[in-house]
Amino acid sequence: MARCDQGYLCDVCGEEVESIRESDLYLRFVTGELSSNELLGAAERHLRCNPVVSQFITHPDFVPVTVDGDFDRRLFDPVDIADRETLLTRGWVRLQELAELAQTVPLPHYPLPEFQNK
Ligand SMILES: [Zn+2]
Repeated sequence: MARCDQGYLCDVCGEEVESIRESDLYLRFVTGELSSNELLGAAERHLRCNPVVSQFITHPDFVPVTVDGDFDRRLFDPVDIADRETLLTRGWVRLQELAELAQTVPLPHYPLPEFQNK
């Protein structure tokens, strides 16, 4: 997703991903799953269009997402669920901060502290 007016199109639904707030790509970047190089080449999606990831976001401002089938979070080990929930919820909160701070934070400082300089 560009930081200018034109967002990238979602790989799943084909609609524009209008804000970093709803970007699956940037969520994976701030949580250390993607490097900045991978960020440029990876497909963009809405968080809601990638429920396997977004089902772990648990925040009062995020309407919960559920997954039916093999990737339902309730089928995971409870310890793994807690870890993923903590990480992805922190990542989502970070995206909301970045949306407010737009233009003032350089890309290498987007990720959560423990994932910077990777
Ligand atoms: Zn979408």
